[in-house]
Amino acid sequence: MKRININTAKPAQPQTKIMIIYTGGTFGMAHDANGVLVPFDFSLILEHLPTLRNLSLDLTVISFDTPIDSSNILPEHWQQIAQLIYENYGEQDGFVVLHGTDTMSYTASALSFMLQGLKKPVVFTGAQLPISETRSDARENLITSLEIAAAKKMGNAVVPEVCIYFGDELLRGNRSKKVESMHFDAFESENYPSLAKAGVSIDFNENAIHRTEAMLTLHNKINSSVAILKLFPGLTESVVKSITETQGVQAIVMETYGSGNAPTSQWLLDLLKQAIDRGTIIVNISQCTGGMVVQGKYQTSKKLQEIGVLSGGDMTTEAAITKLMVLLGEYNLNETKAKIVKSIAGELTE
Ligand code: ASP
Repeated sequence: MKRININTAKPAQPQTKIMIIYTGGTFGMAHDANGVLVPFDFSLILEHLPTLRNLSLDLTVISFDTPIDSSNILPEHWQQIAQLIYENYGEQDGFVVLHGTDTMSYTASALSFMLQGLKKPVVFTGAQLPISETRSDARENLITSLEIAAAKKMGNAVVPEVCIYFGDELLRGNRSKKVESMHFDAFESENYPSLAKAGVSIDFNENAIHRTEAMLTLHNKINSSVAILKLFPGLTESVVKSITETQGVQAIVMETYGSGNAPTSQWLLDLLKQAIDRGTIIVNISQCTGGMVVQGKYQTSKKLQEIGVLSGGDMTTEAAITKLMVLLGEYNLNETKAKIVKSIAGELTE
């Protein structure tokens, strides 16, 4: 990891300390001498973003040695980011993580479960257009994320949680989904209101912001023995079997229809029941981005309830899968079952 310091704070003002963790993604691309897009050198950020000087912040920038496209993000990277935040928590006022947009919702969800008891902001952002491009959204996204990470009210952070700032909205990380690959408003949170909207001023939705009295704890063990099973009309028995009977899979997120409905075919129920009887956790998450799973509302979900499929309520798939990975890293199957249906960091309406 490379570390640089950029202090734009005016001498007479109190120093607000923000750590930027630069992991890669489109945000940091710039044209090299041959016109090819390559990750840019963060020590040149003031050249790309001179208005940074107006913010008056003491910035520490930690860059991954090799910035990566977020399609290549692994749980090891989540662990590195969580560890960095945990180790620097005492001396920093807030954190901004620059990350590719493709898997940003997964990383932000994972971090919300790995850093429980947060009282300081961890703001994820990125860009749809590289910072070197004239119309890039990178500059506005970074400046506003830094302002959000630095925002305090009566000495306390205004947004003490893991969130994503993108295209003028601040969303809870574990409620977000990437929904757009071309326009600037790339993320949505159908089941939870925005935490802030940035216009002429940044309007915080204070009632929606998660606050906790708990001490910060790091949950840095990840167990990736999980799978996602997405239902579709015509899904075959052999495909379902290949997932439910894979050696070592301890938990499955099953993406169902509407309010948690699935075909009532006996072979499907039998395969799910056999997996549950072998100890596999199956969590029901809807393919709809809005609304929630209500098992038993229709005949087509009542059976799932009866065989022991757990309702994921209004969690996103990104939140459910990363939460399972964090819980399985630390707890046994029964404890994981009990905890997956309860909110840890505001990812679920109970
Ligand atoms: N493929 C890029 C990434 O996720 C896209 C982006 O950053 O927006 O790293």
